[in-house]
Amino acid sequence: MKNSKMNPAKIVIATLTLSLVLASCGTPSVQEKAEDVKTHTFSNGETLNYRHVDGLIVSDDIIVGTEQEFPGMIDRYEEILVARKDPEAQNNKVSPQGVGIIKNCDINFFFTTCQDSRWKDGKVYYSVDNTFSQTEKQSIALALADWNLRVTGVKWIYQPSAPNRVAFTRETDPNACGHSSIGYKGGVQQLRLQCFKQGVIQHEMGHAVGLFHEQSRCDRDNFVTIQWANIKSGYSGNFNKACGNTVSDYGTYNYKSVMHYGAYGFSSNGKPTIVPKNGVALTDIGQREALDAGDISAINKMYAAGTVKYH
Ligand SMILES: [Zn+2]
Repeated sequence: MKNSKMNPAKIVIATLTLSLVLASCGTPSVQEKAEDVKTHTFSNGETLNYRHVDGLIVSDDIIVGTEQEFPGMIDRYEEILVARKDPEAQNNKVSPQGVGIIKNCDINFFFTTCQDSRWKDGKVYYSVDNTFSQTEKQSIALALADWNLRVTGVKWIYQPSAPNRVAFTRETDPNACGHSSIGYKGGVQQLRLQCFKQGVIQHEMGHAVGLFHEQSRCDRDNFVTIQWANIKSGYSGNFNKACGNTVSDYGTYNYKSVMHYGAYGFSSNGKPTIVPKNGVALTDIGQREALDAGDISAINKMYAAGTVKYH
C-alpha cells in the first residue's frame, strides 16, 4: 500500500542471488570524481558503472570483484547473454550429458551461477584489521554489538581465523566512506571503512549480509520518483532497479531504511535525484543513524526464508 508510514521493508537477496545494484554509502561528505568512473555497456544494453580501487572493481559502495576477476566476469555474463538469445550457441558449447529440468535461476552480472548468497545459519564470521585506531575499533564494536542485540536472524561472530569471513579493513579510496560485497562470497571478503558513524558501518554490514539499497526495490516507482535529469553524468546505473527471480522485496517500502540513498545522492546540480511520494519530506530519506526496525525485520525474513540450501 502506498502511504507515508514507515513500515518494515526492504529489498534483499533472496535465496539464490542478487542482481544489479549499486549505490552510495549515502554520505554526501565524500564525493566521487566523475572522471574516475567508467561505464561498461553489455550487449543487452545493461550498464555497469565502476571504478578501480586498490586492486578491486567497485560500483558505488559495492565491491564487484578483483581487477583480475573482472574481465572474466564480463566474458562469462556475455556468454550467458548470447546463450539466452541463441540457445543453440549454448548447446554447441557444452556436450549434452543428460536430460532434466532447468533451474529457475535468473542470472545477472553479479551472480552468474545459481547460489545461495546468505551466510550459513545466519552466522557471519569477522575480523578487524589492526590498522584501525582504538576509537575506530570502538565504533565498529558498538555497531556490531547493536546489530547483535537487535537482529535475531543474523549474528556477527569474531573469529579472525575463519577461512570464510568478513574482514573489516581500512578504506583508502578518498572518494568513498566504505565498500562491501553483497552477501556471502566465500573466502575473506573485505568490508572497507573510513567513516565510522554507526549508520554507515551498519549500511555496509547490511550489504555484506545481502541487502541492496532500498530505492532499488522493484516496487520503488510507487514510492519515489527518480529525477534522471539531475543525476551526474555516468551515474544513472546506480539508480537501476533490482527486479527478477533472484531478488525479493521484503515487506513494504521503507523510507527510513539505513539502506536508502539520500535525496541528493549523485546530484549534478544540487537538485534532488530522488523525490519521495506520499507526502514524505526530502529530509526523511537516507538516514545513517542506525539500522531501522524495518531493516531488521527484512534481514530476519531474508534469513528465515530458506527453501534453497545454503552454499
Ligand atoms: Zn550502499
